[in-house]
Amino acid sequence: TVFEALGSKLQGVFDRLRGRGALSEADVNDALREVRVALLEADVALPVVKDITAKVRERAVGQEVIRSIQPGQMVVKIVHDALVDALGGKDAAKGIDLAAASPVPILMVGLQGSGKTTTSGKIALRLRGRERKKVLLASLDVHRPAAQLQLETLARQAEVTSLPIIAGQTPLQIAQRAMETARGELYDVVILDTAGRLAIDDALMDEVAAVKAAVKPHETLLVVDAMTGQDAVNTARAFNEKVGVTGIVMTRVDGDARGGAALSMRAVTGAPIKLLGAGEKLDALEDFHPDRIAGRILGMGDIVSLVERAAETIDQAEAEKLAARMQKGQFSLEDYASQLKQIGKMGSLSGMLGMLPGIGKLKSQLEGANLDQTILKKQAAIISSMTVKERRNPDLIKASRKRRIAAGSGSSVQEVNRLLKQFEDMRDMMKRMNKMGQKGLMRGGLA
Ligand code: GDP
Repeated sequence: TVFEALGSKLQGVFDRLRGRGALSEADVNDALREVRVALLEADVALPVVKDITAKVRERAVGQEVIRSIQPGQMVVKIVHDALVDALGGKDAAKGIDLAAASPVPILMVGLQGSGKTTTSGKIALRLRGRERKKVLLASLDVHRPAAQLQLETLARQAEVTSLPIIAGQTPLQIAQRAMETARGELYDVVILDTAGRLAIDDALMDEVAAVKAAVKPHETLLVVDAMTGQDAVNTARAFNEKVGVTGIVMTRVDGDARGGAALSMRAVTGAPIKLLGAGEKLDALEDFHPDRIAGRILGMGDIVSLVERAAETIDQAEAEKLAARMQKGQFSLEDYASQLKQIGKMGSLSGMLGMLPGIGKLKSQLEGANLDQTILKKQAAIISSMTVKERRNPDLIKASRKRRIAAGSGSSVQEVNRLLKQFEDMRDMMKRMNKMGQKGLMRGGLA
């Protein structure tokens, strides 16, 4: 995805940082030089890059970091925080604002092909489902009849109503009819999908501005294609200057390798990124969480929120014991089982894994195995069907025992094998991390 590609670049930077005792000023400068290159390669605009690196230097160079016994962790946190700031701060994930008198008008704007119509359908589905809103969709695209039909189809899929098409009406007339209909039939939300153009032009801007003036939308959401990188930033700037936007939806984050657009668009417009489009299907709409995204951009996993959430849920003493065992390379299946339990408390396993540093590759393998709560429970069951000896030394488990364990836990031998393989991967990863001198990082992360 967008963020993983950027993340893997930055991971290299931090790999090199690990294993040094304390960070000197020169270390910070070295790191920042590489951070800057990584961000530029990821298509972050130069002024944004300068801003972030300046902030990081300011915070990193100084007593706190140099005296710290956990330099890697410090730098991760400082860069992370700077990225979060650049993405709009911790509280940015507010989603669509519906706090207005019904019907709440939402105006969708953007270039043709950006995913505007699809996103309108996605938002309609989300508001109907999650928020239990009565949603009316209306296409104002009188230039392309196909666009109106497309929205009609999407409305049907999202099980919301679309405004009947009346040929010959202007966008303004359609918008007004939509609002009248919504008032008369007590709709909660009206989503107005405006016409796109292949490029920014005055006619498009005037049309959108006229609709905006008449309808006074509560949200004006700009839809931009993340794949277009720097162009997306220019589009955002133009729409914001000429029409004014209250939020940005970035689409195609599923297929793109440039994470920088998110940082730049936020910086250039000041408008928050509210949602991400991550696929063609109507449910492929994600909330935008700056702290999560920053963690993914860093490729270090979201250590910060892992620390925060772990502190709330993990039993301190157990965590310390676990961390000590991990460091000594004594991580056993018993530890794994108790970790599974903690993970169960914290949310999804794949979400949790995404937050562990260095586990990106393993995570994608695990996701291939369709990892979820059911599997998590099953894994716990498999482990509890083993003898204590086996849990401490899984190498003892031969084929006949695997069959017994599978039968005892209501699973298949493949599932037992998969668990053992996963466990082994995890143990290998921990060994590698210890070798890289990351002890401080892990200890700090879990304790
Ligand atoms: P519009 O011209 O801006 O209304 O764009 P459309 O909504 O018609 O989308 C154009 C194409 O992009 C369609 O084929 C969509 O299925 C596809 N699309 C929209 N959003 C996403 C997304 O988040 N990810 C991917 N992979 N495709 C998307």
